[in-house]
Amino acid sequence: MNVFSHPEFDNHEHLSFVCDAETGLKGIIAIHNTSRGAALGGCRMFPYASDEEALRDVLRLSRGMTYKSALANLDLGGGKSVIIGDPRKHKTEALLEAMGRHLESLGGQYIAAEDSGTSVPDLKVMGRQTSHVAGVTTRTGFDGLPSTGDPSPVTAYGTFIGLKAAVKHKLGTDDLTGLKVAVQGIGNVGFRLARYLKEAGAELWVTDIHADNLKRAVDELGATAVPSEDILTLPVDVVAPCAMGAVLNDQSIPAIRAAVVAGAANNLLDRPEHDAALKQRGILYAPDFAINAGGIIDVFYERTHGSPAQIRAHVDTIGDTLTEIFQRSDRTGLATGEIANQLAEERFRKHAPGAGLTPSRLARAG
Ligand code: NAD
Repeated sequence: MNVFSHPEFDNHEHLSFVCDAETGLKGIIAIHNTSRGAALGGCRMFPYASDEEALRDVLRLSRGMTYKSALANLDLGGGKSVIIGDPRKHKTEALLEAMGRHLESLGGQYIAAEDSGTSVPDLKVMGRQTSHVAGVTTRTGFDGLPSTGDPSPVTAYGTFIGLKAAVKHKLGTDDLTGLKVAVQGIGNVGFRLARYLKEAGAELWVTDIHADNLKRAVDELGATAVPSEDILTLPVDVVAPCAMGAVLNDQSIPAIRAAVVAGAANNLLDRPEHDAALKQRGILYAPDFAINAGGIIDVFYERTHGSPAQIRAHVDTIGDTLTEIFQRSDRTGLATGEIANQLAEERFRKHAPGAGLTPSRLARAG
């Protein structure tokens, strides 16, 4: 298995292959870039078919976190970790504690948060061995309501702010009354986004593979339920994909009728060239890693003990960042995803290594 010549290797600063024979732990921790500060990103547990697949995922995801945090102007670097195994079969407290010991050995260069296959309680188990875990503190959230550490409410709010910036740029209005929005996936983020939209006067079409989620949106928000295969191509103003990645692809893009695509799901573009394909069709795409940064912003302020008002004010800047991306895209003719990458690179490359919030400062704050 190649590492330094791996197609996804991008001068990652650090890779650890971690193992614990007693508990069956096998995992990889990847730190992509720490020039803005300690690397923060989720710890994913997934039954990868091969070590190669796990390596590819952790290289790609850790790099993505550098870009997401830099674009959100956070003093954080990018990192991610993966545990190879089925969370429903192989996850034990002993295995999670062993992972916690490996996190501790990195001295705070990398801080783990929850991701698919891990939950707040799992991170708390790792936290018995290390303080380098995040998203685990019960406190008052950005909206003044109790927060368990789950970042979804903040992600939904940030996505709403970003969606409004996209509508303002493309359709020239701040008023969402009567705006037609199709939401794909009404889980933790999608449902809350739909509720913000409803409160702002929008008309909603929704889909989900779980009937109970769908029923809740119909009953509580007056949304219209539609079959999964129709959601992206409805004659609406905005499509908000909040389920899974790669939904902007060769099949969907030619059929999209909305003027704006703005949703929380990660890695929405199936391939990089789909960024330009959306622009060619005149569809304004709000890059996923710009619009869904609310969660990482929330976790940052958990570590630094920021107030609810500080979190909200920072999440509100997602709208400004997107507006800057849209304006640069108009000026240069480049697609919005490419501009977002450039802007993120400007924001992390100008920092000397260690110039941001250092692991020791962040550990003290936490
Ligand atoms: P979730 O699992 O709570 O919600 C996803 C919903 O999508 C579920 O209700 C699921 O049933 C539905 N779904 C899955 N496949 C579908 C399909 N084919 N068609 C229609 N619906 C489908 O997850 P979430 O926390 O709401 O996250 C949603 C997306 O946003 C994910 O891509 C996630 O990676 C991304 N994201 C989430 C956060 C966060 O803070 N939760 C932060 C950044 C990005």
